[in-house]
Amino acid sequence: MKTTGPKTGIFAPWRNLMLWQQIVLALIVGVVTGIVLNATGNAATAGAIKNIGTLFLSLIKMLIVPLVFVSLVCGMTSVTDMARMGRIGVKSIGFYLGTTAFAIAIGLALGALMQPGAGIDLSAAAAMEPVTAPPFIQQLIGIVPKNPIAAAADGNVLQIIFFAILFGLAINLVGEAGKPVRDFFESLNSVVLKLTEIVISFAPYGVFALMAWVAGTYGLDLLLPLGTVIAALYFGCVIHAVLVYGGLVSVVARLNPIRFFQGIIEPQIVAFTSTSSSGTLPVTMTAVQQNLGVSRSVASFTLPLGATINMDGTAMYQGVAALFVAQAFGIELGMSQYLTIILTATLASIGTAGVPGAGLVMLSMVLTSVGLPLEGVAIIAGIDRILDMARTALNVTGDAACTVLIAKSEGEIDLAAYDTPHVLKSPDISRG
Ligand code: ASP
Repeated sequence: MKTTGPKTGIFAPWRNLMLWQQIVLALIVGVVTGIVLNATGNAATAGAIKNIGTLFLSLIKMLIVPLVFVSLVCGMTSVTDMARMGRIGVKSIGFYLGTTAFAIAIGLALGALMQPGAGIDLSAAAAMEPVTAPPFIQQLIGIVPKNPIAAAADGNVLQIIFFAILFGLAINLVGEAGKPVRDFFESLNSVVLKLTEIVISFAPYGVFALMAWVAGTYGLDLLLPLGTVIAALYFGCVIHAVLVYGGLVSVVARLNPIRFFQGIIEPQIVAFTSTSSSGTLPVTMTAVQQNLGVSRSVASFTLPLGATINMDGTAMYQGVAALFVAQAFGIELGMSQYLTIILTATLASIGTAGVPGAGLVMLSMVLTSVGLPLEGVAIIAGIDRILDMARTALNVTGDAACTVLIAKSEGEIDLAAYDTPHVLKSPDISRG
C-alpha cells in the first residue's frame, strides 16, 4: 500500500493516527458519549447518532457481493493445483467445526461455574415460537444457485462462493482463450480493493456512532441485573480467543500470536460495533492480506466460508444462554442434555446468518432441543445487542485464525509481512 508523508493542518493529529488507533479512540469516545447521553436523559439523541453508523454499515455491506465474487474468482485463477484447493476446503471445515464444539464447551463450563441465571425471575416473560432448522440435505442442495444473479441480489454468500469457484475453474480450463476474462477480473479486483479501502477509512465514524447508540440506549442501569450473563460470555470469548486461537497460531502455525491479534484489530472492532460478521467481511479480507501477509487465494476462500458457517462466539453464546435459562427456571440438566446442546448449538451456529441478532433467533432451536422454556429468549433479547457484540468479534477472530493457520500450512503466507507491524492506514484517496 502506498505510504504518504505526515499530514498537516488542523486535523493533523487525528489524520496522522493509524486507522486502528482512530477506531479504538472512536470506540472509547462513543461509549463515553453514550453513557453521558443516557445519564442526562438524551437517549433519543443517541438514537439519532445511530444513523451515521447505519450509513457506514450500508457502505460495507455494499461491498460484500462484489468483493467475495471477484476475489474468489481471482483466487481460483491463481490456483493451478486443484488437489490443493480441495485440501484447503477440508482443512477449513475441520478447523471450523472443531473450534466451534470447543467454544460451546467453554460456554457451558462458564455457565455452570458463574451461574448467570441464579436469582433471575423469568415468570413474566412472553412466550415465543420455536425456530426449527431446515433439514441438512436441504441446506446442502441450497448451496447450488438456480440463478447466480438472484444469489447476488439476495447476498447468499454460500451460493456466490459455489458459483465463483466453478466460474474461476472454467476460466482455468479454457486456457489461452480465458486470458482476457482473467485479466479483466484482475483489474476489477484492484478497483474493488480500492473501493474497500475508501469505505474502511470511514470506520472510525461508524464505530463512534454505533457505540454511542448502544451505550446511550442501554445505559448502566439496565445492564447491571443481567451483568453475570454478559460477564460470562465476554470472559469466555476472551479465553477462547487467547487460549484456543492464540494457542493454535503459536503452537500449530508457529507464528507470533501477538502479531496475529494486532493484525486483526480493525475487523475485530468493526465486528464488535456492527454485530455482523458478514458485514465485516471486507474489513477482515483486507486486514488478513495486508497486515498478516496471507495470500489472496487462501483468504478469498476461507474468509467468506468462515463468515457463513463459522460462528464460535454464537455457539458459545448458545451454551451460556441455555444454562442461564435452565438456572432461571430451576431446571437441572443432565449429561445427555449437555451433549445435545453441544450438537444443536454447533448446527445452529452453522445455520446462523452473519447478521445482527441472528444468534438470538437460533437460540430457540437450542432451547427446544433440550426442552427448555422459550420464554428465556425474551429476557436474553433485552440485552442481546451487548452479547452480540462480543460473539461477533469472536466469530470474526475465528475466521481469521483459521485463515492464518491454513495459509501457513500451505506456504501461502508472507512471513516478512506477517512480522511487520501494521500497514493498514486511512487510504490516500487522491489518484496515483
Ligand atoms: N451477529 C452474529 C454475526 O454476525 C451472528 C449472531 O447473531 O450470533 O456473526
